[in-house]
Amino acid sequence: MVECLPRPYRSLDAGSWFKLIGGASLQNLPSLANLALAYTLAGADCIDVSADPAVIVEVRRAIDAAVRLMAAAPTERPFLMVSLSDGADLHFRKAHFSAEDCPSDCARPCLRICPVDAIAVGGVDRQRCYGCGRCGPVCPFGLIDFHAWQPDPGTIGALLAACPVDAVEIHTHQGNLEGFHQLWAGLAPVLPRLQLLAISFPDEPGMREHLHALWEVIRTSTLAPAARTRLVWQIDGLPMSGDLARSTATRAVQFALKVQQWHLPGYLQLAGGTNDASVALAREAMLNVSGVGYGSYARQLIQLESETDSFERHPKLLRRAVERARALVCQLKPHLHQEGTASWLTMLSP
Ligand code: SF4
Ligand code: SF4
Repeated sequence: MVECLPRPYRSLDAGSWFKLIGGASLQNLPSLANLALAYTLAGADCIDVSADPAVIVEVRRAIDAAVRLMAAAPTERPFLMVSLSDGADLHFRKAHFSAEDCPSDCARPCLRICPVDAIAVGGVDRQRCYGCGRCGPVCPFGLIDFHAWQPDPGTIGALLAACPVDAVEIHTHQGNLEGFHQLWAGLAPVLPRLQLLAISFPDEPGMREHLHALWEVIRTSTLAPAARTRLVWQIDGLPMSGDLARSTATRAVQFALKVQQWHLPGYLQLAGGTNDASVALAREAMLNVSGVGYGSYARQLIQLESETDSFERHPKLLRRAVERARALVCQLKPHLHQEGTASWLTMLSP
């Protein structure tokens, strides 16, 4: 009998890989569960979330619920991925201010600009904040600062042993080789059983050499062979901006044109400012990428629904969210359109 490859691997090979980026520091459990449920049903290949034990458990539960609803084979599940960083990084932080310092006549522009309603009169809700940074510059009194948020490299192995995941993504910056070594050592207990590894990187001078140095560490490690031969390089164009304007998608495509010349082993994937313009732009530029990771744009697409009660209790909301999510997924997987409305979807309230 021929063994069927996991669908995420097949999608990488076919250039149709779709990753939902839940946010490297987002810990809003109800919202993440709804996002994971809707995007799994919509056909996502990977759900990428923060390395928080409660988030991992809740998102895995939501993926399980979606798989049960679809009666899908184990090979058709999306990978559950956590994002980590080898040093300071914009994705791994939380905003903070002390509400008692705010002048009473402040018009509170911070409340209005936050895309996820993480700011209330009393301050920042840390579970909801994903560190996008939009509130900082609008405070007329400069009261908002940012604190790093990420698990200690020394404890990450134990965390992932207790809360297993399928995949890990490491955000890196040029000059962080020492930090990468420390994180990699912390990951040692889980490397042999990972199904996928992704490296996320911004456009910085010297990045090509840095990535090749990381590859040498990865290549000679105990990382599972299946993951080593399917390394995903995430090209981070304009971080956490895909919901701001369609034009943000351009940055990742331009950066990818450069990265294509670097001859990295594995797959290239767009992220950072990606939205519904990304696939068309990538095709226009004749980019050779394996897929796209969508963050703030994909979350905003179904935010109204996902911020309400659990989708599992509201089939009508779930159906609407899945239909919206599917329209985005279908840009990479047009065959889902041709398959028509899945029978399990028609069972949800119209
Ligand atoms: S605007 Fe961004 S950084 Fe500020 S509180 Fe909201 S999510 Fe956090
Ligand atoms: S904008 Fe600044 S001063 Fe005004 S409420 Fe927000 S944090 Fe406080």
